[in-house]
Amino acid sequence: MGSEASDIDREDALTILASMGVKLPKGTKIPAVDLDKRLVQALDGAQQFSDVVAGLKVPLNPSKWPKWDSSKPLLEAVSRGNPAEAFANAMNKAHRRPEPSTAKEDTFVEVRQILLGFSAHCDQGHKTFVLRDSREEWVVVVRIVDIFSLGEEPEVPVFSLLYRVITLPSNTTLQDYLGALFGMTAVVSISTTELERKCILKLFAMNSKRISPEYKPRREKTESSHRLSFVLPLGPLGMRDLGKLNNSPGCEICGKRDTSKCTQCLTVSYCGKDCQRADWQEHKKRCRSLKGGTWHTMTFSRTSELTAPSVYRVIINRYDSLHDAKQRIEKEDLNVPPPNIHGDKAFLLKFQISLNQFGDDTAMLLYDRQKSFQVYWRKREDREVFAEGEKAITGKVRIYRWARRVGDFQFSVCFDRAPEKDPVW
Ligand SMILES: [Zn+2]
Ligand SMILES: [Zn+2]
Repeated sequence: MGSEASDIDREDALTILASMGVKLPKGTKIPAVDLDKRLVQALDGAQQFSDVVAGLKVPLNPSKWPKWDSSKPLLEAVSRGNPAEAFANAMNKAHRRPEPSTAKEDTFVEVRQILLGFSAHCDQGHKTFVLRDSREEWVVVVRIVDIFSLGEEPEVPVFSLLYRVITLPSNTTLQDYLGALFGMTAVVSISTTELERKCILKLFAMNSKRISPEYKPRREKTESSHRLSFVLPLGPLGMRDLGKLNNSPGCEICGKRDTSKCTQCLTVSYCGKDCQRADWQEHKKRCRSLKGGTWHTMTFSRTSELTAPSVYRVIINRYDSLHDAKQRIEKEDLNVPPPNIHGDKAFLLKFQISLNQFGDDTAMLLYDRQKSFQVYWRKREDREVFAEGEKAITGKVRIYRWARRVGDFQFSVCFDRAPEKDPVW
């Protein structure tokens, strides 16, 4: 199935993952099987597959599901977003960007736009699409055959569809080809990059395997060899998924389990000399700035004692959808450790002096760049190590230090080595 042009190679997979916020190291040698697994997990996270089909058996038989109430606008039901995106979209509108982005780092955002496009056109009664680019060497034809509804509040629309990859013969034009295929049917043309099409095809292929052969929607004569699949609304990956997917427990480069740490800085692990050499260009700056540093284990809390205990502080970070954030607000418990999106990898931790400094009640506010947590470090509980931190921050309002999560409420931090350059966030 599928022409060669539509296959996802290594670089494609890494680019798509990066566009979803999953960044594997440059030069990674992660085996192809594991890379594919990660891509599948990422796409499933984005379509919240396990949440949406919760309690249903795979293979799925949609013919037993309720149909989508066509009086309810699909576009609204399909829209997912988080504060970071809302902000980016507002910026784009302000700059009146008229064209969809073709930048590779926007691949996943654009794939989501394509699905929004399906929804908006379905709302107007158009069900047939062709995904193409200006070269028109290969296109994807898609017809939405049914729309089902799963779950309650919010109901999630499930678009069941027939699709096919078509490599255009050189002696014909897309227009002629589609004319022969669809006759008078109105076809909505959606321009996409090649990589966006590959990403959508990956999603179709994943879901196609999950459909029961008992589900047999009516096919047009020209659709006998089309594949059956479905799509769910796509959202940005939440913190839990980002944490899982960005975490590589083994060698930084190839993912092998048996590793030893870089002896200079202790912040990365490799399986051997080859992988270490392959990563050196990337790693050397950090390594040199950390060499010979002392690491201290420090304990943090989710509240400073200055906060009234009844006041719950919830950070809505940039990557959680509003839906997730709402759930977190309801469930927030200060005894539960904050999520760990860094695994055992080193990351930059920002230390900020809090405004109220009173002797033993002195505390610093700590967070990471992604704002996946915002926690307090209280002098009262950690006097000795706190003194190291105070020494480092003297005369400043904030500092950045390399850190690793070593426990539910513990970081290991290198105070006596500053990063080569202060980041700005
Ligand atoms: Zn390795
Ligand atoms: Zn190192």
